[in-house]
Amino acid sequence: MSTEFSLSAKTMVTPDEVVMDAHIRIDGGKIVDFSASEGKNYTLQKEHILFPALFNAHDHLFGTYYPKIGDGPYVCWFPWDFDLKSSEIYQERNKNTPFELYMVGCYKNLLSGATTVHDHIPHKINDPFIEKLPIRVIKDYALSHEVSVYDLKWGDGIDLEHKKAVQNNIPYVTHIEEGWDQESMRGIDILVEHNALTEYTVMIHGIAFSQKDIKLIAKSKAHFIWCPGSNMFMFGKTAKVRDIVEAGINISIGTDSPSSGEINLLAEIRFAKEVYRDLYGEDLEDREIVRMITINPARAFRMQDRVGSIDKGKLGDLLVVSGDGKDPYSSLVNAQLKNIALIFKEGKPLYGDTDYGEIFEDLSSDYTKITIEGKEKFVIGDPQALMDKLRKTVGFHKELPFLPI
Ligand SMILES: [Zn+2]
Repeated sequence: MSTEFSLSAKTMVTPDEVVMDAHIRIDGGKIVDFSASEGKNYTLQKEHILFPALFNAHDHLFGTYYPKIGDGPYVCWFPWDFDLKSSEIYQERNKNTPFELYMVGCYKNLLSGATTVHDHIPHKINDPFIEKLPIRVIKDYALSHEVSVYDLKWGDGIDLEHKKAVQNNIPYVTHIEEGWDQESMRGIDILVEHNALTEYTVMIHGIAFSQKDIKLIAKSKAHFIWCPGSNMFMFGKTAKVRDIVEAGINISIGTDSPSSGEINLLAEIRFAKEVYRDLYGEDLEDREIVRMITINPARAFRMQDRVGSIDKGKLGDLLVVSGDGKDPYSSLVNAQLKNIALIFKEGKPLYGDTDYGEIFEDLSSDYTKITIEGKEKFVIGDPQALMDKLRKTVGFHKELPFLPI
């Protein structure tokens, strides 16, 4: 099977610029150049817009289940976790194997346009699955669960984990200041005490960041992951995101798990826009939001040489969205599941409209057909069999809104 081909698109978003009448040539899973192949060229439908595939900067794939659990607002994440673990839904979820839940989580992300996900969890939990999953779940990261006394002791502690990050040029990822009590609010001070607030540091939530914290983060060039859906559900508040943007801090958007966050990355970005408008009476620009789910997380996770934008030498991770070429950024920000028209990971089609059947026939051998929001799609693997198994396990016709089959 030849791996060299090209795509021609009326509109391409890199995401820094919008290019009209673009060609992109892929070989060996990578973007080679911006020409049409002399071999196989596929022309996208003219209302279809080409983007880099999306990057979900924060998820807990093991927790991919529904509905949301909790009765906030909470003072910090700890009592929420107690409610989660004592709920019937949690018992129901855990009848499924970890691998099945990871697969459901991967399809949740794939159907919403993401081929790269950060699963913030100890390596011993996700390592056995990572190579078997249909999308890219990041393998190389150092971590703490938390930096305050609420830490669940994932990893080897702040000092060693941060050191691993620097030595291996990988991110050091931690939840931080996810609460309003005094201990939660010490997060940045604790990192500073450990010399662990640096350009390697990737911090999730930060709902209690003070103006002083924001200045320190900006100076350190550390990265911030915003999960507005989960924050508003659990706490009724979120981080001072406008101040964080204005301080020049690199911000990405993550979904968290659907036990607290929005159902997928598309719902999360719409919610992010809504929250920003409610908080500040003005719009967060669609172009900025698109950066927060493409190039910004690629930088935060030190993967900008491979993913996050459409550039020569990067991996052929691509997303095609049906929308309006006159306003491509807002077409993505307002996209519904049915508008996700085609997705490639490393030049291989993973998901897409059956109208693009030729691409699947030529470039893939492992796919089935499903119907999403009334639109027929080809998809890698067999998510229908996965849902059939899940329904048999829980003993009734369970509906999961992020995998509506
Ligand atoms: Zn989390």
